[in-house]
Amino acid sequence: MKIGIVGLGISGLRTAMLLEKAGFNVQLFEARGRVGGRLQTIDEGNGVHYEAGGEWIDSDHFRCLNLLAEFELEGIQPEPWPKKLHYKGSISSEAHIWNDALEDDLRVEAAARELCRDLSTPPWKNCHKAAWDKRTLADFLNEHTQTDRGLWYVTAKYRSDEGDDPGEIGLLGWLAGYIHYLERDGDVMSAYRVPGGFSGLCEKMLGSLRAEPLLGSALKRISQDPLGVSLEFERSRARVDHVILTLPPPALERVAFDPALPVAKRCAIEACKMGRTIKILWEFDTAWWEGEEWGGSVLTDGPLQQTWVEACEAPVLCAYICGERAMEWTRMGDPVNAGVYELAKLHKEAPRHFKRGWAHLWPNDPYAQGGFSHLSPGYVLEHMEHIAPPVKRIHFAGEHTAMWTGFIEGALESAERVVQEILKTEA
Ligand SMILES: Cc1cc2nc3c(=O)[nH]c(=O)nc-3n(C[C@H](O)[C@H](O)[C@H](O)COP(=O)(O)OP(=O)(O)OC[C@H]3O[C@@H](n4cnc5c(N)ncnc54)[C@H](O)[C@@H]3O)c2cc1C
Repeated sequence: MKIGIVGLGISGLRTAMLLEKAGFNVQLFEARGRVGGRLQTIDEGNGVHYEAGGEWIDSDHFRCLNLLAEFELEGIQPEPWPKKLHYKGSISSEAHIWNDALEDDLRVEAAARELCRDLSTPPWKNCHKAAWDKRTLADFLNEHTQTDRGLWYVTAKYRSDEGDDPGEIGLLGWLAGYIHYLERDGDVMSAYRVPGGFSGLCEKMLGSLRAEPLLGSALKRISQDPLGVSLEFERSRARVDHVILTLPPPALERVAFDPALPVAKRCAIEACKMGRTIKILWEFDTAWWEGEEWGGSVLTDGPLQQTWVEACEAPVLCAYICGERAMEWTRMGDPVNAGVYELAKLHKEAPRHFKRGWAHLWPNDPYAQGGFSHLSPGYVLEHMEHIAPPVKRIHFAGEHTAMWTGFIEGALESAERVVQEILKTEA
């Protein structure tokens, strides 16, 4: 049986590895001139390399950690620097956070824990929770905080997790993800990075395959009949028995299907939203943040929202910006220099040490149109169950089809699920 895999991000690569291992013949197609999709390690020379896309592995992302182990890699743990907090001119750190913000944070956690006790899995089985599905995470955070500073802190924290503003996130969908947090033991967020970067891992995955990828192949049209599936790319065609599409929802929307996809599937694809996420990076001639008893890691109420230090030999700081603020940065002529101006507000020495910088504006990326998917208000009960199932010979994978929505772990989870689907068609 010949299986086409379209989209060679980490979900497509993992699917190919698992299918080849199970004895299938796979054909690989990718629109970009490289594999990895939203995982992209950039090497700018002189010790500067960084992750333009996905970067962190939580310590309970076991599929991801096991994949590293398969290639004899071990996650790198960041230095345990306290995160600095800047709010309306006052400064604190996550380790010694203002009491009022801490109390609000604990109130939100307790309320979320309470709601999660009553949740069924999968998330769309919570029909009696329609009111939660219609509410936003922002409503919930407002309700359970008592101070401006506390509200700012929890908003900043969950915005960074979700990759968009809490007003865009449905409460039921957020709780479905929060359940994973409750099963956690200790501080496991952003625990590891990949040594050498995610692009190296993706290249190793590709290198482990017998099949050769057809890069530069953007899928335009797909038609299926009782005997197989025909794929039409910009400059070529292919015929396979089954196809697995790992394209993010905005890219899927641009593919023509013949016959048309069922209405529920089309609506689920349209309703699945991508977070508005960007990264801006700066190289400096010295790590000016180190003299300050903090590690360059900041959460701020200013336009940069959040910064951290990249794991490379050169001193490189990364700002990770999400939501409406990120869109403001995408409209700027020179986000790198505008960012240096903002950094000067956090540390007046920053401009003096600045060497060069780069901006990665994911909402403008033609094959992703955003950072990663999130569950918007109303999505869970109306659409979520329709996003993953196959339509006859067409199968769907990618982080947006997983329970670990948004994460690299979810992309890998989707690969395992779709391989089981293919195995069942053979049985
Ligand atoms: C800035 C940023 C930060 C992130 N941080 C983290 C993090 O710290 N931790 C974490 O777990 N996750 C993070 N993520 C999310 C993570 O990167 C993704 O969840 C994961 O990489 C998605 O993999 P995927 O295979 O599902 O999709 P993709 O990587 O998007 O792969 C899909 C592939 O399909 C291709 N494609 C699209 N259209 C077509 C077409 N028409 N024809 C052929 N091919 C097509 C694309 O080029 C792409 O290669 C981040 C993402 C971004 C952008």
